[in-house]
Amino acid sequence: MTRSLSIFGATGSIGRSTLDLVERNRDRFRVDTVTAATNIDALAEIARRFDARLAVIADDGLLRALSERLAGTACRAAAGTNALVDAAAADVDLVIAAIVGCAGLGATMAAVEAGRTVALANKEALVTAGPLMIEAAERSGATLLPLDSEHNAIFQCLAGNRHQDVAKLILTASGGPFRTASAAVMRDASPAEAVAHPNWSMGAKISVDSATLMNKGLELIEAHYLFGLPSERIEVLVHPQSVIHSLVEYIDGSLIAQLGPPDMRISIAYALAWPERMATPAQRLDLAALARLDFELPDTGRFPALRLARDALETGGAAPAVLNAANEVAVAAFLKGRIRFGDIAALVEEALRRADFVAPRSIGDVLEIDRATRASAATILQASDT
Ligand code: NAD
Ligand code: MG
Repeated sequence: MTRSLSIFGATGSIGRSTLDLVERNRDRFRVDTVTAATNIDALAEIARRFDARLAVIADDGLLRALSERLAGTACRAAAGTNALVDAAAADVDLVIAAIVGCAGLGATMAAVEAGRTVALANKEALVTAGPLMIEAAERSGATLLPLDSEHNAIFQCLAGNRHQDVAKLILTASGGPFRTASAAVMRDASPAEAVAHPNWSMGAKISVDSATLMNKGLELIEAHYLFGLPSERIEVLVHPQSVIHSLVEYIDGSLIAQLGPPDMRISIAYALAWPERMATPAQRLDLAALARLDFELPDTGRFPALRLARDALETGGAAPAVLNAANEVAVAAFLKGRIRFGDIAALVEEALRRADFVAPRSIGDVLEIDRATRASAATILQASDT
């Protein structure tokens, strides 16, 4: 039996890793829908290569150009945010939610509301709308399969165990490129230095988040919603080798960990084949060659983003959505050279200070919080320019 897949964010790092696995297993998977933000050439090439039924470009000004590039194929072209949301509700066996940022919320939520099995990479959607998404999944019967390597690891470590027997979750973090850097070096680090992750090759936004440790903060919030444990029972542990992808501690003192090489195709394959497993071309771990694994506590002095994220989780309501939106603005400004690395967390902190945290009751509310926070962060940025 072949499984049908829709890939939201097909041109990105997760999208391409997914397609690599599909290419190696053409008999098991069929690509239904592929989407991208603006890169019509890459999207049309993917749609052709995988014989997709539908290609959606988020930018609605690009519909004509996309249609032209799909001429002579059976693939239909669509464009715009509404088309993305409509496509996410289509009946497929698995939706890969791999758009980056809150921009993925509409599509990810539509797939959840339609009761699909959703492989979730788009952590920002869950961070901004966690309670609404979990409630929607309960209502619709949707299954969320975490693609984020840490959450995928925890999902694997939880299999066959009872929720009430879990003592705590331990999220591992590589520490990023500035794990051992001085505060002075970090303050003025360049975008090129920040995206040069020691272990993983990823999109620019998550790479910067890994350098500030905001990524781990977002993952803390993600873990809270996915696994239903309070903040104080989710710990962060720096583990520079990125071999242990996360751990679960049980009430009897047992720790169960998932290990593997840092290759997202392992997490993606787990979701693609779930509840079975499938072979991947990922390198095998050579533990004897590795010889040692190191651990240390995160330094929240040099990495204030982690503290801001934990505070946002504990504040609840709109705070995680505010944190996320301000961070998206800050990361984009940093990548454009408009602010320094050290200003990213400061901008997020100031946006949080200016916000109120009335809990969103609908996705419309979340999008409004996102919009208002972006406007507030833009104002803070402008003030810092002058
Ligand atoms: P990426 O930047 O490589 O790709 C992002 C994808 O989203 C692209 O296909 C892009 O066209 C699309 N996109 C961007 N903006 C959009 C918009 N406004 N509307 C519609 N589509 C848009 O990012 P990535 O590294 O693949 O990450 C994707 C998601 O997966 C992120 O949420 C990230 O946190 C998460 N994630 C990634 C990795 C990784 O190894 N790359 C690991 C864990 C989690
Ligand atoms: Mg991760």
